[in-house]
Amino acid sequence: MQEKDNTNPNMVIAYPIQDALYLNITNRCPNACLFCIRETTGGVGYNLWLNHEPSVHEIMMMVEEYGYHYREVVFCGYGEPLLRPEIVKEVAGKIKEHQVSVRLNTNGLADLFLGYDILPELAELIDTISISLNAENAAAYEKLTQSPYGINAFPAVLDFIRRSKLVIPKVVASVVRYPGVDIKKAALLAEDLKVDFRIRELME
Ligand code: SF4
Repeated sequence: MQEKDNTNPNMVIAYPIQDALYLNITNRCPNACLFCIRETTGGVGYNLWLNHEPSVHEIMMMVEEYGYHYREVVFCGYGEPLLRPEIVKEVAGKIKEHQVSVRLNTNGLADLFLGYDILPELAELIDTISISLNAENAAAYEKLTQSPYGINAFPAVLDFIRRSKLVIPKVVASVVRYPGVDIKKAALLAEDLKVDFRIRELME
């Protein structure tokens, strides 16, 4: 397990992987997935522990430094970006001014941790939303994610996926290939939900 480093002086707010620029805006997440990259030694090749959550100004300084030639900018990081909804909206708006595609990777639990429906506010700002479906049913999801929302978490994710389709052009449900995950059943579920399906390899 990688030790959390809150004193990391060279914290990474933005990092490129291939033709995408990833933004790391928080380390917080309500879940504690067994496969979470936060718990691995290799991570994504960058030390993504933040010593503080970056401001819009700090994030945009890094985006400007990398430039706007990336195929897409992705809210990702070690944590759940929608725990900072105002930052996501403001930064996404600024990036969209440069005609760059914006993707949001989320655990799909925003209804539960925010207590309101953020999705209408993301319309026009987010081009692709990738939602962690994680499992084929509520029991498997709970076991895998150790979510504090227990058995209520999975139906909330499904509902979030359904409503995302109303406001965001491309919706992807993802699972990590991990022991105990029934990939075939999860794929069928994504098909029922009429969204794209993506299998993420553990150290992708
Ligand atoms: S939802 Fe994502 S960030 Fe949160 S614990 Fe799971 S893998 Fe980690």
